[in-house]
Amino acid sequence: MSQNSSGKIPVGILGATGMVGQQYISLLNDHPWFEVRFAAASPRSAGKKYKDAVAGRWQLTKTYAPHVGDIMVEDANDVNRAIDAFKKGGCSFVFSALEMSKDETKALEEQYAAAGIPVISNASAHRWTDDVPVLIAEVNPEHTDIIPLQKKDRGWDRGFIAVKPNCSIQSYMKPLHALAQAGYPAQRLIVHTMQAVSGAGYPGVPSLDMIDNIVPYIGGEEEKSEKEPLKIFGSINGNVIKNAELPIISAHCNRVPVIDGHTACVSLEFAGKKPSSMEEIKQIWAAYKGLPQEADFPFAPKQPIIYREEDNRPQPRKDRDADKAMAVVIGRLRPCNVFDIRFVALSHNTVRGAAGGGILNAELLKHKGYLN
Ligand code: NAP
Repeated sequence: MSQNSSGKIPVGILGATGMVGQQYISLLNDHPWFEVRFAAASPRSAGKKYKDAVAGRWQLTKTYAPHVGDIMVEDANDVNRAIDAFKKGGCSFVFSALEMSKDETKALEEQYAAAGIPVISNASAHRWTDDVPVLIAEVNPEHTDIIPLQKKDRGWDRGFIAVKPNCSIQSYMKPLHALAQAGYPAQRLIVHTMQAVSGAGYPGVPSLDMIDNIVPYIGGEEEKSEKEPLKIFGSINGNVIKNAELPIISAHCNRVPVIDGHTACVSLEFAGKKPSSMEEIKQIWAAYKGLPQEADFPFAPKQPIIYREEDNRPQPRKDRDADKAMAVVIGRLRPCNVFDIRFVALSHNTVRGAAGGGILNAELLKHKGYLN
C-alpha cells in the first residue's frame, strides 16, 4: 500500500461535491489511515478547485482540510484524465458517491475497477451484481471472500467493486443480526421508516413538499429495504453470493421533515425459538460486537447497538450522533400484539448509512489485505 509522508494512504472520491461526498471529505479530515488527494464529480464541477466547486452549497458544520480545498476537481466521466490525476495524487482506491443513472454508475465504476482501482461504493447500481459484496462491516465481513473470485472472473488485477447497502436498512440490520447470532433469527418483519431529507441528496426534495408534511413514497426504497437484507444475510456459493430466504420484510418508506437520521419502527416475528424476555433481547443487543470492534477499526462504534430506556427515545436530533454517528440507537422494545416484538431504531443516514459506513468498509478491506 502506498503511503504518503504523513504515513496515510491517499484516496479519491467520485461524487466528492454531493451530500455524501461532502461527508466523506469531512469525516476523512482527521482519519488516521486515509487522506483525500483526488476528487471527481460532474462536468459542472470539473476544472474548479474543490473549494470553488462547493462554494455556496457546502452542507456541513465541519469544513474541509485546506489541502482538499485546493484539489482540482476532475470530470468522473473523463476516465483516462481522471485516472492520471488519481495516479499523480499517489492514490490507492476511490470511494464512489455518484448520483447518476444505474447503468451509467455501473459502467463508470467498472471502468475504474478495470483500470486497477478498488471502488468502495455507496451507489445502488452494483448491489444486485451477484459477485459484488454488499457489506455491513459488523454483519457480513466474510463476504469480502468473493473479491478474489470477482477479480479473477472479470480479469481485473488490482481493482474490484465492493458496495454498502441502502441507508434505510442500517438501523435494523445489526439488531436482527445480533438476535440471529444468539439463536433467534427473524421470520417476518413489518418496517415503517421515517427518512431524513438529506437522504435525497442536495438540493433534494423541494421545501414546499417537505415543510409541514410527510411524503409517503420514496422511489425504489421499499424494494431495497426488503431485498438487500437477504443478500447481506446470504452466503458465498461458488463465485456468487446466494441470497438468504428469510426474513420476509414488508416496508413502508416515508420522507419526513428531519435533516439527518433515518428512524424505523419494526414489528418482528421470530422464525423458531423466541427469547425468554425483553430483558434477554436487551442483553443480546448490549453484548453485540463484530470484527470492527474486535480489531478496533478507527471508525468502529465502541457500542454498535445502544439501547435507550426512556419512553420517548430514540429521536433523530438527540441520538443520531451517538458514537461518531456510527451506532444504531434503539428504544421502545415491547411485545407486539400481532408478531412477537416491536421496537424503534435510528441511524444517521449520511454517516453510518453512507460515508461513515463506506469508510468502515474500507477499514475492513484494508484489514483483510484487499487494499494493497
Ligand atoms: P448528491 O448530493 O446529488 O451528489 C451527487 C454527486 O454525484 C455530486 O458530486 C455530483 O457532482 C455527482 N454527479 C451527478 N451527476 C453526475 C454525472 N453525470 N457525472 C459525474 N458525476 C455526477 O447525491 P448524494 O446524496 O450525495 O448521493 C450520492 C450517492 O450515494 C447516490 O448513489 C445515493 O443513492 C447514495 N447514498 C446516499 C445516501 C444519503 O443519505 N444521501 C445514503 C446512502 C447512499 P456535481 O456536484 O458536480 O453535480
